[in-house]
Amino acid sequence: MRSSVKSKYESYRKILEKKAEEVRSSMSAQKAAQVLAREEHPHDEGDLSQQSHEEWIFLNRNTLDIKLLREVQDALRRLEQGSYGVCYECEEPISAKRLDAVPWAKYCVSCQERIATRAESGVEEAFQETDA
Ligand SMILES: [Zn+2]
Repeated sequence: MRSSVKSKYESYRKILEKKAEEVRSSMSAQKAAQVLAREEHPHDEGDLSQQSHEEWIFLNRNTLDIKLLREVQDALRRLEQGSYGVCYECEEPISAKRLDAVPWAKYCVSCQERIATRAESGVEEAFQETDA
């Protein structure tokens, strides 16, 4: 039994659930579900022309919200799986200080900085997850 580990993250779970609720309520829930579903089945750029103008505006306006919601949902999934609070990149525990600031953090501070630098220099796949 790892109940002590679970309760350690219980407060983060509450924060994450509240955050997810906030983000969801700030967008149209139905639209968000559609967009999230679409993101799981990426299509060619050519298909963009088939999107309605309204949807295009929605996507642009909500991209940040959707990104955040996905991060938060990811973090909740990691809580369930018991991998919460561990850096994706170096597999070291993420500091409590960082989790307090960003409860959905996937990376420790040093990895996050390295990834941000990589992303700035145009390596777009920096945020892709690896199966290693
Ligand atoms: Zn790391």
